[in-house]
Amino acid sequence: MSDPDAYRTKREWEVKKITATVPRAALFKEEPERGIEIYGDGIGRVDLVDHMGSDLTIVNSARVSFGKHKEALDEKDKGLVNYLVRHRHTSTFEHNVATFRFVVPLFVRSQHHRHRTWSYNEISRRYTDVNIQFYEPEAFRTQHKSNRQASNAEELINPSLVHSPSSATWPITFRASALISDHHQGSLKLFNSLIEAGVCREQARGVLPQNLYTEYYGTVNLNNLLKFIDLRTHEGAQWEIQKVAEACLEIAEGLWPVAVGAYRQAKKTKNKLKGLKAILDQERAFIIEINAGGQHDGLSYNELIEMIDEFLESA
Ligand SMILES: Cc1cc2nc3c(=O)[nH]c(=O)nc-3n(C[C@H](O)[C@H](O)[C@H](O)COP(=O)(O)OP(=O)(O)OC[C@H]3O[C@@H](n4cnc5c(N)ncnc54)[C@H](O)[C@@H]3O)c2cc1C
Repeated sequence: MSDPDAYRTKREWEVKKITATVPRAALFKEEPERGIEIYGDGIGRVDLVDHMGSDLTIVNSARVSFGKHKEALDEKDKGLVNYLVRHRHTSTFEHNVATFRFVVPLFVRSQHHRHRTWSYNEISRRYTDVNIQFYEPEAFRTQHKSNRQASNAEELINPSLVHSPSSATWPITFRASALISDHHQGSLKLFNSLIEAGVCREQARGVLPQNLYTEYYGTVNLNNLLKFIDLRTHEGAQWEIQKVAEACLEIAEGLWPVAVGAYRQAKKTKNKLKGLKAILDQERAFIIEINAGGQHDGLSYNELIEMIDEFLESA
């Protein structure tokens, strides 16, 4: 399936010990080192399982319109890939496909599965009750003040909470992380008791919390992968899925450096344009204010021109 062309600019990959239940050899056919740990707990991770196509595939799928085919990628082709990204001729990215293996908490899985252009297969807790692990952060983001969906990644806490276990006669103060870990162990104990008492796995699993790790395969073409990455690396997306999207981007860049490089460049330009638009909007408001007899404390004409020139040079 894989194309040797894809590895010509092979990157250094972050290699961490795999704590999977599935034997490593069974997971990775050709690229045993392509995995990225995402939460620093030795469990959450994204691995490349398999892939199809190279940067050359993209170029040839574009050139087939003219009945042309090339055996190797050259500088001109890099320009063509940039053009395809800029002008959103994204169907040419759909012949490149990757299969990943994800080990993430249930709530991340739910967010990921909203992306319907992926194909998924997941471990079933109706079939197995082994290797139950939990996502256990030791620092917690505070709630964002204005965006009800968001958190503050820069403001980390691990608060103390007063807890009153039913057996204790007085309340005890614990760190949030310790209480959460305790809660996980309690739910696991109940799960095991239910199984031992003869309750079926499909009902017993209901007591396991959202932090339960799950694992699944996800297969997607490069066009839809980049759409997913765009949505989920955005600062409005939950931190835990941002890490998933960033890992996918890094793995994809190793496979298709020209295409992903063009995507990164286009995104950078888009962000700069957004910044420029914000400044121009502000300047427009200042001009309106001056016309209405107000004070102008925005950029001078020369500063504005300098900034636009700087932008045009770097875009
Ligand atoms: C920051 C963030 C917050 C979110 N919050 C919520 C939330 O609170 N609640 C919630 O329910 N969801 C939420 N979502 C999920 C979001 O609404 C989308 O479901 C998700 O981002 C997938 O986007 P998509 O549909 O474009 O992707 P995909 O499902 O991968 O589809 C890609 C494209 O294919 C086309 N397509 C696929 N399936 C269909 C279809 N059946 N009909 C028509 N066109 C189709 C569409 O053009 C679509 O854009 C959130 C997403 C993000 C990024």
